[in-house]
Order: sequence, then structure tokens, then C-alpha cells
Amino acid sequence: MPTLSVFGAQWGDEGKGKIIDRMARDADVVVRYQGGANAGHTVVVGGDEYILHHIPSGILHPGKLNVIAGGVAVDPAKLLDEIEQLRARDVAVTEQTLRVSARAHVIFEHHRRLDHMAEKFKGEGRIGTTGRGIGPCYADKASRTGLRVADLLDGSTLESRLQATLAEKNVHFERVHGEEPLDLGQEIERARQWASDLAPFVCDTGALVRKAYREGRTVLFEAAQGVMLDVDHGTYPFVTSSHTGPDGIAAGVGFPVRSIERAVGIAKAYCTRVGEGPFPTEDEGPDGERLREVGCEFGSTTGRSRRCGWFDAVAMRYALEISGADAWIMTKLDVLTGLSEVKVAVGYVVGGVTRDSFPAELADLSRVEVTYESRPGWTEDITGVRRFEDLPEAAREYVRWLEDMVGAPVEMLSVGPERDQVVPVPSV
Ligand code: GDP
Repeated sequence: MPTLSVFGAQWGDEGKGKIIDRMARDADVVVRYQGGANAGHTVVVGGDEYILHHIPSGILHPGKLNVIAGGVAVDPAKLLDEIEQLRARDVAVTEQTLRVSARAHVIFEHHRRLDHMAEKFKGEGRIGTTGRGIGPCYADKASRTGLRVADLLDGSTLESRLQATLAEKNVHFERVHGEEPLDLGQEIERARQWASDLAPFVCDTGALVRKAYREGRTVLFEAAQGVMLDVDHGTYPFVTSSHTGPDGIAAGVGFPVRSIERAVGIAKAYCTRVGEGPFPTEDEGPDGERLREVGCEFGSTTGRSRRCGWFDAVAMRYALEISGADAWIMTKLDVLTGLSEVKVAVGYVVGGVTRDSFPAELADLSRVEVTYESRPGWTEDITGVRRFEDLPEAAREYVRWLEDMVGAPVEMLSVGPERDQVVPVPSV
């Protein structure tokens, strides 16, 4: 399969890191196309844990080309730190294995500050951002005041653009928030250092990826966050600032839509969500607590504890449908082991009316009454299972039941954090 899109089909943290890492084995080029350093993919290799924020998971496989495309909001300080940490663990991060788009927008200190300050004003309407400046960076991109990686590398553009930006942002910091202004000289100095450290990696990555595709190389597009956090299709405004599904690839990479040949969603066997916002199947009782403990549901970037709940077939159907998913991969099935029964949201009722699609309105989402169905659980440890037929019958039935409800086949299960803890699922 020359091009494959792999994306999160829930609210992020679906365990994409591990799955994409596995898939990267069969790819020549791995491309990250949206989001910023708020996403943290966790990949466990031989007991060692790697948390990747910017760099595609393909970096852990020697000889792959990893691309940070133009749709990503690049935090140079974080990216350089990530490069250094990987190198310290003998991972080869070179101009041959990592390329960064000249078109990607850059996150500066003023973006981070704005992120924190804006949340303070929102009170109840807080989005629960990670405070990494990603939202403000994308906002500047849309209002055409942002700086791109190419601008960093061009000394005089950098100076004049940063000067103009800070002239405006500093007024905002001082007058609106009563904060100290940022020092232009210091910011320019910092940006110059980033530019010289990043320069060897920078190129027109869109051209690079299209060429690789033309030459018949296999390209894997890796997403961050999940479709339910998509800026257009998610639970707006409690969303991230980019397009998190396959819809983000064309713009984020500069790659023709019709050349994206396959799309595979990743979803947990249950649901989690970080931060504020609608989460119809949230379980605030002991079952939710159990999922959090057993599933280690604490953010890899922020350490924040995740809200936990049941698999939501309504939301999943929606996420797979708008993404045109050919199949999906179910992760963390092992976390359900030991539950006497496993619940799934099979329908929504809003104001007495049954809805067969995911509501667009926040007001409707806050009034959703979820219809659940449940199936018996299983007690056997499944972390060592590698063949579908060796799973307990109840686990197999759970998988088939969900496939049926969401209308797309599950092609693989994940039953533990390690690379080899997967179970291929035969098609029915
Ligand atoms: P991502 O952002 O989608 O990559 O997800 P995270 O990396 O934040 O969360 C996934 C977490 O679950 C990591 O700690 C993984 O090591 C772990 N993990 C991934 N797949 C499985 C699985 O099938 N079972 C268990 N128990 N843990 C898993």
C-alpha cells in the first residue's frame, strides 16, 4: 500500500504511537502533518519508553525518512530538545532521517504566554489547553501574522516580522493582562539560535513527499490527537486547532487528496478524554476509576489524569464515516479484562428524540442521554495472546459486536504496550 493514513478516531491518546511505530516498519517515509508538541506518542521498545512529541514514530526504525510537514506548529525549543534526547539514546536523528518543512509555523514565547492568559479569562468556558501555544500559533497563521520556519532562517525577515509581531503582542500583554512585555532582542537572539540548529533539517517537505510517492515509496501519514478533537468536526470549541483526520493531510503536507489510498482509525476498547468538553460516555464512578488505574490514563505530555468512560459507538461511527476509514485498530483491549460486564453506548437521545448521528451542537451534546448495552466480560489475562482464536470467547464477541455497530472491520487488536503485543483480526 503506497500511501496510508493512520489517525485517532476518538479524543486522542488512543495508543497511536505504538501502532504507528509498528506500521512504520513497512513504510519508507513517515509524515506528521498537523498539531504541535501537545501530542505525545508513547512507544515502548524492549521495555524502554520513548515519548515523541514532534518527531514521527518512524524515527525508532533505522533508515526511515521522517517528515514534519507544513501543517505542524513547530516548537523549535521542544523539537531540538527531542532531537537531543533521542540522540542521547543512540537513535540516529540526521538530515537523512528527519526533515522539517520550511512552511511549518513556529511557536514562540508569545504564543505560549497568550495560551495561558486566554484560558485565565475564559472561566467556565476553559478549553483545558496544554498551554503550549499551539492554538495562538494557528490563530496567527489564519490571520496571516505568523512566522514560518523559512522566516526563521532568513535573518532580516525574522527581525522585521518578529519586531512587528511583538509590537502588537506586547501592547496586549501590558494593557490587557498587566504583564511585562517580552524583550525583542532576547527573542531574536533565541530565534537565531533555533534557526542555526534547525537549518540542516529544513526543506520543502511537500515536494519531498510527492517525489517519494511518485517513485513508488510507501508513505505513512501519522496524525496526532483524534477526530473528535478536529477543529471542524470535533466538539467545538473544545477541540484542538487543526484537522486531525485524513482531512488534514492534503493541506498539511501538500499532497493530493486522491492519492491517499487507505485510511485506518485507531480507537481504544473504551474511551478517554483530556481536558474540558462533552464526553457523553464518561463514567465518574468506580468503573471509570478502574479504567484510569488499569489503563494508566494519565497524559504523556502533561501528566493530567484522563477522564474515562465506555466505548461510544455513535461517536466512533461518525469519526470513521467522515474519515472514510477502510478499517480500524482497537487498542487496550487488555484493560477491560476483569470487568464482569462491558458497556457500550449504542445510541443517543436528545430532548426525547433518538439521534442516529453525532450532534453538531454543544447544547445538544450537553443534554445527551446515552443508551447503553452491555455484554459479559472476561477474566483471563489476554496480554500474551497473539491469535484471535486464542482470545476468550467474550473478548472475541466484544470485538465482533463493535465492528458490527460501527460498520467497519477491526484489523488488529492491541493487548499491551509492547510492540509485539498485537493480535491480527481475521475478516468475517
Ligand atoms: P497516543 O497519543 O495515541 O500515542 O497515545 P498515548 O501514547 O498517549 O497513550 C497510549 C498509552 O497506552 C501509552 O502509555 C502506551 O504505552 C499504552 N498502550 C498502547 N497500547 C496499549 C495496549 O494495547 N494496552 C495497554 N495496556 N497499554 C497500551
